[in-house]
Amino acid sequence: MKVTEHIKNANGKTLFSFEIIPPKKGNSIQQLYNNIDPLMEFKPPFIDVTTSREEYVYIEKEGLLDRKITRMRPGTVGICAALKHKYDVDTVPHVLCGGFTKEETEYLLVDCHYLGINNVMALRGDAMKHQQYFEACKGGHQFAKNLVGQIQNLNRGKYLHDVIEVDDKADFCIGVAGYPEKHIEAPSLKTDLKRLKEKVDAGADYVVTQMFFDNKKYFEFVEAAKQEGINVPIIPGIKPIAVKRHLQLLPQVFKIDLPEDLIDAVDNCSTNEQVRQVGIEWAINQSKELQKAGVPVLHYYSMGKSDNIKAIAEAIF
Ligand code: FAD
Repeated sequence: MKVTEHIKNANGKTLFSFEIIPPKKGNSIQQLYNNIDPLMEFKPPFIDVTTSREEYVYIEKEGLLDRKITRMRPGTVGICAALKHKYDVDTVPHVLCGGFTKEETEYLLVDCHYLGINNVMALRGDAMKHQQYFEACKGGHQFAKNLVGQIQNLNRGKYLHDVIEVDDKADFCIGVAGYPEKHIEAPSLKTDLKRLKEKVDAGADYVVTQMFFDNKKYFEFVEAAKQEGINVPIIPGIKPIAVKRHLQLLPQVFKIDLPEDLIDAVDNCSTNEQVRQVGIEWAINQSKELQKAGVPVLHYYSMGKSDNIKAIAEAIF
């Protein structure tokens, strides 16, 4: 079922969902199942599976370093299919512009369609580690809105090159990213919202936000989005702080601010176990307020660990 149908069928009740990261190449999928198993009692209608950008590795060969391109965490669509099969849950593969030609994207979407995966998150992806700015690969999309356009074309039975008879059109429900604290490259929040509106106009069905730690920012973002004419569901993304290092890491990687009270509470912890507890309590408070405000879904970034998400879900659902 589509994410938007799950939301509609919930009749105003807030749903629980989460995002997982594929394991590193060579690691068993069992680790993933071990993390997901404890969360299934909260009946997530859908689970997101991220896609990582490709990266360079350097292999020594006869005294010289040979540069190879690789993906450390491949398997997004395979994992989506495995989860769907194992748990009978809808899955949402993240589809990136970065590192993929339009043709490769088409093949991936065709696979999804055959597998009965009819939700996708359409994302641009970040720049590669060695790049200062995002660069589309030759024959790839520059912006997420172009990717949304390609997916909507498939929904209309329009493939890239072939003129073919289509008797089984895709019917993808498309999610896109939104940034309550603005995307790092956008010159202003207002401009970023205009770009978000373009993604919705291109056919995005819902928005999932970047993590935020101050609900006020989400509420203001939703209001500003409405003013911009964005009328699709905006799902808040929640990340519980888990280790002290997150105080530096999360602002650096995700370009977000942390509230002073949260920083102080984490600073006062002497162990990471205490930090984890602070993170859980903060996320529970955030979730309670968002649920009260009637958000359609509370979407948690699990980042490979589920014990804290389980503690939050127990308090909320
Ligand atoms: P876009 O919507 O294309 O926007 C990128 C920037 O370009 C913005 O600053 C926007 O304002 C600007 N822009 C858009 N259109 C135009 C235009 N026509 N002219 C000029 N500027 C324009 N990354 C991953 O690698 N893998 C994942 O699985 C993943 N999952 C994510 C899930 C969520 C919920 C979120 C919020 C982010 C996720 N990301 C993921 C990160 C995302 O790829 C990065 O934030 C990326 O830098 C931007 O992606 P986007 O889809 O928002 O891009």
